[in-house]
Amino acid sequence: MAKYIFVTGGVTSSLGKGIIAASLAKLLQARGLRVTIQKFDPYINVDPGTLNPYEHGECFVTEDGAETDLDLGHYERYLNIFTSQANNVTTGRIYQTVINKEREGAYLGKTVQVVPHITDEIKRRMLELGQDSKYDVVITEIGGTVGDIESLPFVEAVRQLQWELPEEDTVVIHLTLIPYLKAAKELKTKPTQHSVRMLSQEGVHPDIIVCRTERSLTPELRRKIALFCNVKPEAVIEAADAASIYEVPLLMQREKLDLICLRKMEITNYGEPEMLKWKEFLDKLKYPKSKVTIGLIGKYLELQDAYKSILESFVHAGAVNECQVQIVNVHSEYITDINVGEKLAGLDGLLVAPGFGMRGVEGKITAVRYAREKGLPFFGICLGMQMAVIEYARNVLGLTGAHSTEMDPQTAEPVIDLMDDQKQVTAKGGTMRLGAYPCDIREDSLAFSIYGKKQVSERHRHRWEFNNRYLEQFENSGMKASGKNPATGLVEIVELTGHPFFIGVQYHPELKSTVESPQPIFVHFIKAAKERAEAGSPVKSAALQSTI
Ligand code: GLN
Repeated sequence: MAKYIFVTGGVTSSLGKGIIAASLAKLLQARGLRVTIQKFDPYINVDPGTLNPYEHGECFVTEDGAETDLDLGHYERYLNIFTSQANNVTTGRIYQTVINKEREGAYLGKTVQVVPHITDEIKRRMLELGQDSKYDVVITEIGGTVGDIESLPFVEAVRQLQWELPEEDTVVIHLTLIPYLKAAKELKTKPTQHSVRMLSQEGVHPDIIVCRTERSLTPELRRKIALFCNVKPEAVIEAADAASIYEVPLLMQREKLDLICLRKMEITNYGEPEMLKWKEFLDKLKYPKSKVTIGLIGKYLELQDAYKSILESFVHAGAVNECQVQIVNVHSEYITDINVGEKLAGLDGLLVAPGFGMRGVEGKITAVRYAREKGLPFFGICLGMQMAVIEYARNVLGLTGAHSTEMDPQTAEPVIDLMDDQKQVTAKGGTMRLGAYPCDIREDSLAFSIYGKKQVSERHRHRWEFNNRYLEQFENSGMKASGKNPATGLVEIVELTGHPFFIGVQYHPELKSTVESPQPIFVHFIKAAKERAEAGSPVKSAALQSTI
């Protein structure tokens, strides 16, 4: 039987529960335990797949094609394990299951209620991952803030489990904020006291209080928090602001968060944490030997969470190259033929981000043209790859009306078209091409030199695809399909011959980059950007000139 650690949050949102949970998981894993993490979100959407990135940040896609909360990305990046549909549960999914069962007659004769039916379904899912002896510890992060109406059933489920399971099988960690009041020159514990009291009123007693704070907690303050919150002083953990999220596991190790949990769970067969690789990664991250500037072209740039996995992939790839990666956000809506040189000046590489819909598309196409013509390292992901195809069709193949039918359903040259099996789909939730698919790679390609393998598996989230009717025309001219799905022939990778580094992928490589295993395209893209930065001047090649 697995043990269960629950992580709740108080005082305010955005305290970084996901990072604390992932850091604790990392430490336990580094001590030899088998750990997984799951996230329970209180909103009513069945999953975040239909949410605008402005609402909820990036939608993370798992191997099995679940559209999930971005915290699952942190879990995978820290633990280097795959998560799945079972690792992210929302109120919507809980209600959907209960209501479907009610319609099937499973509760015949009974009134279906929040307690016990909804809470039973929550508990079933909380325990599910720990049932088949795959894990020693399951960490469950409860989204939202204690006191919210919508998180009540989740807290109630934790209460029941704390009561039903043996004492040593559960740990509850409450993450709170200790604000510093400048005028009083003091750290204040009152919001934490209130938050813990609220949690207690809901019947849950935390075993550990993790305090987010800008300043160090004095022993006196720790004692005060312990006294008012009814925990041992050593169970008051300081979580100081860190320069990088990847420092947090080491900060938590120093505070002994893992040891306190192990003691409460009465787990004794653990080793010293094996964090050598992690520390090596951190060293490279902290002391880079060079620097590159990468332009990130997208349309949700005001919210950094919208491109979380891409930004983290750059952190991993930067560390491998011992190179600081500075990201410059470039709003595609404001790029025109006239200002593109000025907007992209000083960049060592250009990444065109995934996306949906019309807004900003023409600016992306203009930016791709610039990168192609100037030999600027280019990396297009999903919509970014589609933009590269459209740009090439228009400006090199002379198909001036080329477009994607997503943006222009009447286009004369649908070089990007809706996938056949998407044509009948009308519902929006969970209906894209989702999850991991294999991709065969041509040996005489940039992709092969990057991956060093003939087949890879990467994750997808899209409805449109490269239109194979045009493939011959592209390949005869110099844009090659170097990666294809073996079963369907769908184009997964395009690249340009004669360019220092130009690659577009239909899938989302950023979803598989972890600290221990950085994604190879990102690593090689940064390498190419570094070479360009070191060369000091743009690489010139006749093949780079546009024919039109
Ligand atoms: N909108 C495009 C499609 O659905 C690209 C999607 C994406 O970038 N994730 O095919």
